[in-house]
Amino acid sequence: MGQGSTGPDSVTMIPVLNPATGEQIGEVPDCGAAGVDRVVARARASFNAGVWSRMPAQNRAKILWKVAEIVEQRLDELSEIEALDVGMSRMLARGFISTGLEMFRYYAGWCTKIHGQSTDLVTEGWGGPNIEYQAYTQLEPIGVVGLIIPWNGPLFCAMVKLAPALAAGCSCVLKSAEEAPLSIQKLEGILREAGVPDGVANIITGYGETTGAAMTAHPGIDKIAFTGSTEVGKRIVQAATGNLKRITLELGGKSPVLIYDDADLSQAIPGAAMGIFMNSGQSCTAGSRIFAQRGVYDQVVEGVAAAAKALRLGASDDPSADLGPLISAKQRERVKALVEDGRRNGAKIVAGGKALDRPGFFFEPTVVSDVRLDMSLYREEIFGPVVTILPFDDEEVVIAEANNTEYGLAAAVWTRDVSRAHRVARRMDAGVVWVNCQVVFNPAIPFGGFKQSGWGSEYGWKGIEIYLRSKSIYVQI
Ligand code: NAD
Repeated sequence: MGQGSTGPDSVTMIPVLNPATGEQIGEVPDCGAAGVDRVVARARASFNAGVWSRMPAQNRAKILWKVAEIVEQRLDELSEIEALDVGMSRMLARGFISTGLEMFRYYAGWCTKIHGQSTDLVTEGWGGPNIEYQAYTQLEPIGVVGLIIPWNGPLFCAMVKLAPALAAGCSCVLKSAEEAPLSIQKLEGILREAGVPDGVANIITGYGETTGAAMTAHPGIDKIAFTGSTEVGKRIVQAATGNLKRITLELGGKSPVLIYDDADLSQAIPGAAMGIFMNSGQSCTAGSRIFAQRGVYDQVVEGVAAAAKALRLGASDDPSADLGPLISAKQRERVKALVEDGRRNGAKIVAGGKALDRPGFFFEPTVVSDVRLDMSLYREEIFGPVVTILPFDDEEVVIAEANNTEYGLAAAVWTRDVSRAHRVARRMDAGVVWVNCQVVFNPAIPFGGFKQSGWGSEYGWKGIEIYLRSKSIYVQI
């Protein structure tokens, strides 16, 4: 449901700002509790009618494939809107959306492969003849699902959730983040054009505390799949107790990057710099804690600092810009405060460290050394272009410190020693470990966080399983 269809009682409008200028570029309605009621009713009606949930699987597959085709055809337009809204470069927005649309191609393939197991059983008769059964499990769509996404790659995050939920046969209500709702507005039309029936895929806008909270507490929603901060994830768990909704959470991170003496630094340094500075550090898997072995420590600090200084900041329509602004003034102030706190307490700012004195919410790519392990900028997820670099000597010590965080989303290891690569990867307390690479994702490989970085996984078969329920049926024969 697009703007305006939230009804006459949803009058609160959310201003949408261009993060590169701070100027308002649009507004969207806060759907609110009454709007959520209406959309959930539509989604439920479509689910019960079976227009999608009982559609022949091959037809669902064709429609999902078509969604990918339309998004691909409209890539220029969609990435332009998304880049403007989030502040990222158009090239990055293209990359995100291209990866997201592959979710639709991937999950189109799964539609025809969702099935349970069967077995023939014979149970001992108690004093009578043995009894024979045909027993089987049936995988069914879980029902109406609420999908809540963040702002740091809206179309990508939306497609990661919608593709498996729709492949499973669910009806969906997706809420975009209040900070960047514009590109998502186009998605409902695209889903309709591809042939998703009316009422099956509903896109709404709204604030987290109003519309998001109404979704998580709603008795008509069977499951919530959420991507966002750990703090809000915990709130969602509490709010979902009313009808014991199923929940999947993709949350924050404070990911470690280990660079050994024997690493190929010509790959490791740009890889680690990209791993933190991409999307101005506003990435859940940002490698925000680099640990460099003593022999290469100075080179790594100098190299990552040089990479930081070489990055040009600018608006999404500036083709020479490498990095955009942060999403909001609030986020820029938070990043600034954390860096200042580190500086006051003796950390050394090797590169960057300041907000830009220009309109928009720009913050310099920042490299910090000489941090103490109890500093907030070392412990907390910053969600900005700030990396700390610490030296290490001993493998056991660095593994323990890398894992010494409440998060467990991603980790990276740079080394030429194959045994060490596998050994360290096994010991990382993280849902994804990259060896001699960073920020690699594929629809076929599950992605999910350990510890306070999440519950459950998305992508791959695991990513569709979370939208299915298994029923066991015994037939006496
Ligand atoms: P956020 O948690 O503030 O908001 C995320 C979404 O939740 C938004 O749509 C918001 O409106 C909604 N929301 C807020 N309060 C709510 C409530 N009480 N009930 C229901 N919904 C509510 O996060 P953000 O600032 O938009 O995004 C940044 C965070 O997202 C970071 O912590 C980042 O690590 C995380 N993230 C994780 C992944 C992942 O896959 N693990 C990916 C991207 C971002």
